[in-house]
Amino acid sequence: MGNRVKEAREQAVCSGYCRRCGRVHGLDGFRARGHALELMDRLDRFGRIDFSTVSLQAGKDCSIHQLFGSARGKMFGVLLCRDTFEKEVVLQAFSGQFNGHWRVDGWVEPLFDVEQFHRLNGPREKEVKDLGRKMEIVPVGSREHLELRRRRKKKSRRLMEDIFSLYRVPNFRGEECSLAEVFAGAGGMPTGTGDCCAPKLLAHAARNNLMPLSLAEFYYGRDNASASCIHKAFYPPCSTRCQPIIGYMLCGAGRS
Ligand SMILES: [Zn+2]
Ligand SMILES: [Zn+2]
Repeated sequence: MGNRVKEAREQAVCSGYCRRCGRVHGLDGFRARGHALELMDRLDRFGRIDFSTVSLQAGKDCSIHQLFGSARGKMFGVLLCRDTFEKEVVLQAFSGQFNGHWRVDGWVEPLFDVEQFHRLNGPREKEVKDLGRKMEIVPVGSREHLELRRRRKKKSRRLMEDIFSLYRVPNFRGEECSLAEVFAGAGGMPTGTGDCCAPKLLAHAARNNLMPLSLAEFYYGRDNASASCIHKAFYPPCSTRCQPIIGYMLCGAGRS
């Protein structure tokens, strides 16, 4: 990526269209950067994300080693907030799952109930995988193969819809909606909508009476295949999954 493009992306603010009000709500993207640099430093020093665990007990699962391997890097984010006593609070998030974990001590939770997610996803994901295995043993292009593919596609689409229905999206007016109700993007919701750092951080703040002041997200680890994400570079919330929902999430958060 050229420097000019990189600079432009770095200067972009965190904002999105709110379907509730019919306007754009935004949040500062700069004040949190110092805290993000501190988080990068902690990741460097600890080599893992479970900072609160003493090192002898630290699980390999939380090692940042994988971020420099074939799995490549990941987005991390911090949200600077103010609590009801006017004290500053810094929240931290990793995008999606970390090595198969939705929850790690010291990091904000996803937008859904994790137990509920596993109860739903476990058996249904197995069904999708079973169909995939059956597809491998019948000739490609045969009627049976086509039929299995059709069934698998239908099953995985329905599973994705059911998973999306578990997400609760709060704003700063004490309201809560489903993802489908707030999504202001064109077309369907991409896989992983709601799992990035920005929505996780804003949801945690909204549910815990914390007023958001500034948000910063950065990429950490081996550059991605297209080199559009660079180790330790700052990026605004993504345009496909986050911008369509963070407008609603920022509703009632003060500024604009
Ligand atoms: Zn995103
Ligand atoms: Zn609004």
